[in-house]
Amino acid sequence: MTCHKCGNQLFVNDQFCSRCGERVKSNISDNQSQSTVINDEQPKRSKSAILALILSALVVGLGQLYAGQGLKGIVLFGVWILASIVTVGMATFVIWVINLIDAYRIAKKVDQGKHVDEWEFF
Ligand SMILES: [Zn+2]
Repeated sequence: MTCHKCGNQLFVNDQFCSRCGERVKSNISDNQSQSTVINDEQPKRSKSAILALILSALVVGLGQLYAGQGLKGIVLFGVWILASIVTVGMATFVIWVINLIDAYRIAKKVDQGKHVDEWEFF
């Protein structure tokens, strides 16, 4: 880092130039803009929570599959079918609603860049 007025070599913590007395510009704002650029370059794992909700409304587990929980989505679908048969349709709606909330919340977490385990619910 050098003085922008006289070119004198400066220390990082200097507030004024030791040769000409010029006030040293803080480079905090420069660092901030640099980190913003780096963040923009990172690939976004954007998942639409609304799309996950719609997918899971159509087929149980499909929204979870879309959010990256492939195995959980398939098992959820299997459980939904089995439970529907066993309870003669009584569990069908309940599991469908739980599946909707789950798909929406998991996709939202993924969209926010949070780590989501394969078997994480809600
Ligand atoms: Zn200077």
